[in-house]
Amino acid sequence: MKRLIPATLLLSFLLATAVSGQKTATSGQDIGGLIKKEAASSVATAEVMYRDLHQNPELSLMEFKTAARMAEALARLGFEVTTGVGGNGVVGVLRNGKGPVIMLRTDMDALPVRETTGLPFASTVTVQTPLGPETPVMHACGHDLHMTVWHGTLKTLAALKGKWKGTLVAIAQPAEEVSGGSDMMIADGLYSRFPKPDYALCYHVSPDLPAGTIGYFPGAIFAGVNSADIKVFGIGGHGAMPHKTIDPVVLSAKIILDYQTIVSREINPVYPAVVTVGSVHGGTKHNIIPGEVEMKLTLRFFSDDVYSRIREALTRIANGNAMAAGLPQELMPVITFPDDFTPPVENDPGLVGMATESMETLLGKENVIRVDPSTVAEDFGKYGRTDEKVKIALFWLGGANRAKYDESVITGTDLPALHSSNFAPDFIPAYTTGVTAMSGTIIDLFNRKEP
Ligand SMILES: [Zn+2]
Ligand SMILES: [Zn+2]
Repeated sequence: MKRLIPATLLLSFLLATAVSGQKTATSGQDIGGLIKKEAASSVATAEVMYRDLHQNPELSLMEFKTAARMAEALARLGFEVTTGVGGNGVVGVLRNGKGPVIMLRTDMDALPVRETTGLPFASTVTVQTPLGPETPVMHACGHDLHMTVWHGTLKTLAALKGKWKGTLVAIAQPAEEVSGGSDMMIADGLYSRFPKPDYALCYHVSPDLPAGTIGYFPGAIFAGVNSADIKVFGIGGHGAMPHKTIDPVVLSAKIILDYQTIVSREINPVYPAVVTVGSVHGGTKHNIIPGEVEMKLTLRFFSDDVYSRIREALTRIANGNAMAAGLPQELMPVITFPDDFTPPVENDPGLVGMATESMETLLGKENVIRVDPSTVAEDFGKYGRTDEKVKIALFWLGGANRAKYDESVITGTDLPALHSSNFAPDFIPAYTTGVTAMSGTIIDLFNRKEP
C-alpha cells in the first residue's frame, strides 16, 4: 500500500529545505561544531608557535627564518609550497576538487621597536641595520598573531577537507610595514604562476576590540596614504632688509594655512581625508632670510578621486601663492610624491556580507561588530587593484584582553596601540575566534554555488 504524505507535512518539509538552502553551510550541517573543536584542539601548539615567533621577530625584507618556518608549516599541512615569491614571500596551494579559488594572506614582518611589555616571552632581539647600530625588533603590529591564526585556519581547513571543494591559496607576505611586499608578490606572478583567486581574505589584529570579536566594514576600511615633499623657493637676503627679498618662510606659512582649506572647502564633506604638514624646515640663523623651505606632508583618503583632487589642490595652492608673492616662473614650488603610495583597502561589500553571515552564525551577532573605517594604512588593498579584479576583504581581529578592555571603557584610557612597545594581544581568545570565524567563512564561500 502506498503511503500518502499529508499535504501539511510535505509543505513544511519543502519550506525547511528551502530555508536551509539559503543558510550558511556552517549552520546547515554541524561543520561549525567541527571547526570549533579543531580550533580548540590546536590552541596549545599554536601558543608555542606564537611565543616563538614573538621572541624571534624579523624586520621588513629580512624575514628569512620566518618565511622558512611558514613554508615548512605549509608543507606539513600538505600544501604545494613555493618560496622566494617577491623576496621572502611564500605561496602554498591546496587543490581539493572543483570549486572557487580562495586566497588567505598573512604578513610576516616586525618593527624597529624596543619591547616593554614585560611578558615572559618578550623580544630581546636587536639587529644591525642601516638605521643605526643595534636596532631593537618587536612584533608590535601583531603579525606574529596573524601568522599563527593563518596557520591555525589552514590546519582546520586541511583537517576538514571532506567538507569543502575548491582551491586554497595561502600566502605569507613579507615587507607589509614598508608597504612593498604585496606589490613584490604580485609582480613576481602571484596571479599568473598560481591559481587566480576569486576572493582574498585577511585579518589585522585590533587593539581596540576585545578578543572574541571581529570588526568589519563593507567598503574602504583602511585609508590610502601617500607622502608629498614640497620645496618652496624664495629670494633670500638679510633679515634686516626684508623688502629686498621674497621670503619663503612667510610664503610657506601662507601655503600651509591655505592647505587647511583643501579638506574643509574643496573635498565633499561626506568623503573623509587628511592633509597634514608634518615637517617644515627652512633657514639657518635669526637674521638671514633663506632661499628655500622644505615641507613634508602625509595624505590620507578613501577613494582615488579624493586623492587626485588633493594632489591637484596641493600644486595649485602652492603655485598660486608663489605667483602672488611675485616669484618668477623658474622659482615656482616643486612638489614630488615619493613612490610609497598605498591605496585604500577597499573591501568588497558582497564578500563582507557573505563572510559576516558565516561569522555571526559561529560567534553570535553581538561578536561581529561593524566598525568605522580607520585612517591607518595596510598594503593588502593592492591585491584587489590589479586587472584580475580579485574581490578582497580585510577584517579586524579583536585582540584586547576583555577585562582590560572593560576597564579602559570605564576609565576612558586608551589601551596600547598598534606599533606601541606595550602592545600585547590576548592570545587564546583571539586565536580561537580568528580561526573559527575565518575557517567557517572560507568553508561557506567554497560551498556556495558560484563565486
Ligand atoms: Zn604595522
Ligand atoms: Zn600590521
